[in-house]
Amino acid sequence: MPDQTETRVRRERLRASLREERANGLVVIARPNVRYLSGFTGDHGALLVTHDRELLFTDPRYETQAAEESDCDVKIAKGPLIKELSAWIKRLRLKSVGFEHSRISFDDYTHLKEFTGGIRLTALKDVVEALRIVKSAAEIATIKASVRLNSAALEQALRHFKLPMTEMDLAAEIEYRMRRLGADGPAFETIVASGKRSALPHARPADLPIQHDELLLVDMGANVAGYASDMTRTHAVGKLGPKRRRMYRAVLEGQLAAVDTVRPGAPCASVDRAARDVLRAFGMEQLFIHSTGHGVGLEIHERPRVGRKEKTKLETGMVVTIEPGVYEEGFGGVRIEDTVLVTAGGCEVLTTTRKELVVL
Ligand code: ZN
Ligand code: ZN
Repeated sequence: MPDQTETRVRRERLRASLREERANGLVVIARPNVRYLSGFTGDHGALLVTHDRELLFTDPRYETQAAEESDCDVKIAKGPLIKELSAWIKRLRLKSVGFEHSRISFDDYTHLKEFTGGIRLTALKDVVEALRIVKSAAEIATIKASVRLNSAALEQALRHFKLPMTEMDLAAEIEYRMRRLGADGPAFETIVASGKRSALPHARPADLPIQHDELLLVDMGANVAGYASDMTRTHAVGKLGPKRRRMYRAVLEGQLAAVDTVRPGAPCASVDRAARDVLRAFGMEQLFIHSTGHGVGLEIHERPRVGRKEKTKLETGMVVTIEPGVYEEGFGGVRIEDTVLVTAGGCEVLTTTRKELVVL
């Protein structure tokens, strides 16, 4: 739980953005944004932040929890939260209210419009996400704990690795280890992909045996106190031929080159380019079919995107993944991913699991 001074500071920063947008308040529906601004971790909440009030709406199931977790003024709604929230917009005589452009459902928007009739509603893009992009010291400490736990879970799970074993067996072992180590759960569905299936960047673990003399890709993240970690390691199961080993070398060199460019002021696009340049030199640029990375925090994918067209410049306190990969359909794929913190002096690779090819 963030301490309450921290949520207060976040709301003050939000108010400054609202003043710039000339909005008297913001309706927050997206769960991670509600959590970020109020401290409330329940899965049914809505928040109204005005220049001098902060009202957290939830249903009777969460009455005790909301009061414990949040320093906002808790309002328990018997019906739809948006209806209760809209009544407060009118009661507080707000003239102009913003809402989260890409995170409100059509249903909630329609209701908001209907119940607040005559009030100016403004779609605000990423207004809370823009605050979340730079992490506080407390958030960084939690992300570090999440990254450490994630690496420990992989290490423990691999101690139980033996053939025959299916992709699903290994994924289950990993997620079990995460929970035993104290995670809330996985931050996303663990990816375990063997052999040809490693060429599917987002493969779901299948009830298929892990293949010998093949690549084994594992992409996993833990959720610790709400914060995600994200790591991919590709292993050799048995012996790998020269082509697979060359793929591994290319991705590892690309990953290291990209990490090397991470520092305050570096545009995300230039970090992406560093990885792509190395893969081009190996003749594998065409096999790299996604961005180099993404921000991590309360959500597994958040701003900034470390991609070809992203103009955002890195700042101290941002946390991003660096995860180039190459995928050849019908043959196999390699991806190596670390979670990286941007620091005043450059960066700190938070993931400590080794990156040299591990043979299982
Ligand atoms: Zn990942
Ligand atoms: Zn990732």
